[in-house]
Amino acid sequence: MSFEFKILGSSSSGNASFLRCGNTRVLIDAGFSAKKLKALLESIGESLDALDAVFITHEHADHVAGLQGLSTYPHLKIFANLQTAQCLQERLKRKLSWQIFETGSSFIFQDLIVENFPIPHDAYDPVAYIFRCQKAVAEGLLSSPKPTSLAWITDLGYVTELVRQKVNTVDLLVLEANYEPELLEKDTVRPFSVKQRIRSRHGHLSNQDAYQLLSETVDPRWKEVFLAHLSAHCNDPQRVAGLFAPLSQKHEYRLSIVAPSAQAMNLVAV
Ligand SMILES: [Zn+2]
Ligand SMILES: [Zn+2]
Repeated sequence: MSFEFKILGSSSSGNASFLRCGNTRVLIDAGFSAKKLKALLESIGESLDALDAVFITHEHADHVAGLQGLSTYPHLKIFANLQTAQCLQERLKRKLSWQIFETGSSFIFQDLIVENFPIPHDAYDPVAYIFRCQKAVAEGLLSSPKPTSLAWITDLGYVTELVRQKVNTVDLLVLEANYEPELLEKDTVRPFSVKQRIRSRHGHLSNQDAYQLLSETVDPRWKEVFLAHLSAHCNDPQRVAGLFAPLSQKHEYRLSIVAPSAQAMNLVAV
């Protein structure tokens, strides 16, 4: 069964990814306006009309900015846990087609097996997701040469034991590398309280946090690791590339750095 994954954009200014497994097409987060999401999907030959669902990680604007506009697409199922859904619905004019799941649960949605688990971040009930192609799991294709599973792990203040357990169960890993401590310290845009929040145990992972997690993972099964949710002001893709270079030389997986989108840089970082 075909499995296709594209990051439409990921930074502190906006996050959204497209995943297709068989005939199932979903977005992971919707952190750009519906108009922009429509254009981004069209740029990869997809469309909002053909989309089946959106999976929301948490209620921060850089993950849900498009929900208001997406409410005009009533066929779209919006997956979230209860606290996240309640908080978001209060802000919206139209009722969304919520599909509520319990944090920590696994369930089947069309061609996908979806798992979610809690992560430490300053939101109501933030989660990370794992998506597996149902057919591949059923047929035992876990060592297939093509990817059939994905983990989306961004917006977390530190690496929990649960994250350590889950991280190496997938072919494609999206992991946050949000900030470089020195650049965050020097930043003149953010007040001290925001810097403290970003560095806190309910903030974001630094480049070094992400590096440690990847380097301590024994016998990684990943085919590709995407370093994502980079801060436009407090990180630098070149520095990330330099820091992680020893890993990509040592292992067989491909390492991709998702540069913050220039068009989205002026939005509020959360
Ligand atoms: Zn967040
Ligand atoms: Zn975020």
